[in-house]
Amino acid sequence: MKVIKKSKQIGFCYGVKRAIKIAKEIAFNQDVPKPIYLLGDLIHNHHISEYLATIGITILKGDSRLEMLNTIDKGTVIFTAHGVSEKVYQLAIAKHLTIVDATCPYVKKTFDEMKKAVNDHHDILFVGKINHPEVEAALELSDHIHLVDNDLPMLSLNQPLLCHQTTMSSYDVMDVFNHLKKSYPTLEKMEMICKVSEKRQKEIMQLANYHFQQPALIIIVGDKNSNNSTKLYEMAMRLHQSDVLFIDNIQELNFANLKKYQEIMLFGGTSTPQAIIDEIYKTLLKLDHLTQNIYQSKLSIEDYIK
Ligand code: SF4
Repeated sequence: MKVIKKSKQIGFCYGVKRAIKIAKEIAFNQDVPKPIYLLGDLIHNHHISEYLATIGITILKGDSRLEMLNTIDKGTVIFTAHGVSEKVYQLAIAKHLTIVDATCPYVKKTFDEMKKAVNDHHDILFVGKINHPEVEAALELSDHIHLVDNDLPMLSLNQPLLCHQTTMSSYDVMDVFNHLKKSYPTLEKMEMICKVSEKRQKEIMQLANYHFQQPALIIIVGDKNSNNSTKLYEMAMRLHQSDVLFIDNIQELNFANLKKYQEIMLFGGTSTPQAIIDEIYKTLLKLDHLTQNIYQSKLSIEDYIK
């Protein structure tokens, strides 16, 4: 008999739930100046972006938050869960826009901690995904915050501190820290991985000592633009314990190809709607008896935000 499991930690994190609640309330509030704009995707899941468009929210596109903001001059602007820089905030005020801030409280807290560290004369090396809105906002906090990438020259840094995006994996952070320590021996590290992401990562890491029924498969469900979902995928790949798939929804699975597996485990990112994982899980429980190879999702657009 096949073993089909889903992780304990699934569904939206509190930052995502809060951002969706704020955006919905604004969309249905008659008193809010229209049009209503979002500075990019509220969270990194396209199902949620599609839902928000159906309730009248326009999602702006562009290479940066400033560029997006420069395309509008009236109405309401919602800052996404990833946060914005002071420059973006000030420009929205100068444009007399109504501001709604859906930044995750934890992201805000890490921005405050970095500002305090800079005030305490630390120079910060920052690890994150280039062009991610949280990284863009973090880098604009101060000229003393430098993005770690392949082109980073050797810098003269005062009390160097390693900081990073809240949804990085602990593996990535330690790898970069150990590497940079050779160039900056006094480098210290700030703990910044958000607890929700950390718990999901730990569940994957614990599989290193788990005896799978072989052949085994891990399925990570999430949007490819979601950093925390991507990190779960990379960590699962690193285990070398099973095959690994990274999918958006049930329609990306070919069930004929899954019948060979004796054990299948499901994981989801913090911005992955729980309904998507539940639909896959319930279908996998009937795997041996499925007659179709591809299943169309039966979810409605409202199911994604439950
Ligand atoms: S993953 Fe963590 S930091 Fe990101 S929105 Fe959720 S709670 Fe906030």
